[in-house]
Amino acid sequence: TSRNPNEDEFHQAIFEVLHSLEPVLQKNPHYIKHQVLERLVEPERMITFRVPWLDNQNQIQVNRGFRVQFSSTLGPYKGGLRFHPTVNSSIIKFLGFEQIFKNSLTGLMIGGGKGGSDFDPKGKSDEEIMRFCQSFMTELYKHIGSTIDVPAGDIGVGQREIGYLYGQYKRITGSFEAGVLTGKGLSYGGSLVRKEATGYGLVYFVQEMLKQKSLDFNRKKVIVSGSGNVSIYAMEKAEQLGGTIIACSDSNGYIFNEKGLDIQKIKQIKEIENKRIKHYLEYDSNTTYVDSCAGIWSIPCDIALPCATQNEIDEMSAKQLVFNGVLAVGEGANMPCTLEAIKTLQSNDVSFAPAKAANAGGVSVSALEMAQNRSLPWSFETVDTKLQQIMKDIYFESLETAKQYGEPNNLILGANIAGFIKVADTMIAQGVI
Ligand code: NDP
Repeated sequence: TSRNPNEDEFHQAIFEVLHSLEPVLQKNPHYIKHQVLERLVEPERMITFRVPWLDNQNQIQVNRGFRVQFSSTLGPYKGGLRFHPTVNSSIIKFLGFEQIFKNSLTGLMIGGGKGGSDFDPKGKSDEEIMRFCQSFMTELYKHIGSTIDVPAGDIGVGQREIGYLYGQYKRITGSFEAGVLTGKGLSYGGSLVRKEATGYGLVYFVQEMLKQKSLDFNRKKVIVSGSGNVSIYAMEKAEQLGGTIIACSDSNGYIFNEKGLDIQKIKQIKEIENKRIKHYLEYDSNTTYVDSCAGIWSIPCDIALPCATQNEIDEMSAKQLVFNGVLAVGEGANMPCTLEAIKTLQSNDVSFAPAKAANAGGVSVSALEMAQNRSLPWSFETVDTKLQQIMKDIYFESLETAKQYGEPNNLILGANIAGFIKVADTMIAQGVI
């Protein structure tokens, strides 16, 4: 903590991983001898830069840009870009650190990275977003490339932003290098299923986890926080599997309907009309809107899928979920549960799917997008089948590892250890670098 002062989220992410790794280090002291942990917690590179841009009033605005290139042990750095006013070096480092283990779990050749800016896309015009993206890429292009570092989207960065970023990269470098960014539009190298991948992947993972207890999504009441990319497709897949989505949110509040929400209407509001979630009430007056998102976890449900942001389920919310008889919690967002919340859920026998494993579907399909950029595009079914298989493999690898270390119900332990061992062994094989 003295080396990285005021980086609470980064400390939290490291603490969770280190705690899980204690039994591995006891069993394999050569990881200590090779100082694997000391090396892993220090990013290979952290780039911070100025992003000046002109707003619609011709005023100069200045934001801060980040890219952390955390680990290239298993492949080119890979991880999304987040545009949100809360972005700072702690957030970027926690996300980049987690990405190393997540990417390792996918079994694909991708290292760990993350980036973004404290730019707030809310309320900005299309032209302002474009000018911001162009300025951001004018610095970032120096550090990325299809075999070096391949950014993607995250909060506030979807296909529109990736399009502007890609256009500027192409313009500066003068080359059409499709594999330099993922999450692209289909007409210039994007992959089918990329936009669905994280949400669908989360539900595939939770489905496997429920099977262990002879349960499924059918007729279960599901709450999904957020109403962005991950949330929408988690809702869509959970509904396809027979679940009833009773609540979702945005950062202003949540909507709730015991009988179930209409996911296609939510898609229309969020993806086409670009409006706030409260506008759902214009379609359905039987739905309730609550003007704050904090209370969403107090609604009784069977399955909770936090898909908005970090630390959205604290100990109190976890206790409330347990009190209401929740069966499973699946982390769609990165680190949405605090350490205390996880402890509460696990000690009350709630099946818990940790983010590193459960939300790895997005980056997996990003890696499949990179593979298609080197060959030919695949059909929706082909990519979806591969995604299902990857999520199943991650689930069973996490489960088997957890069993091997004597805690069969602890998928956090299993996922952290399985992800770590692959990276650690490869680091040792590659020498002191
Ligand atoms: P989006 O920007 O598409 O959606 C984010 C959603 O969460 C929005 O509904 C947003 O509401 C809400 N939200 C964001 N910040 C807050 C906050 N501080 N408090 C309450 N609600 C908030 O992002 P994604 O769906 O892409 O990402 C969601 C989470 O999933 C993040 O943790 C991300 O790191 C993680 N993730 C995303 C992947 C992907 O493929 N996109 C892959 C793996 C993980 P509002 O519109 O009001 O801001």
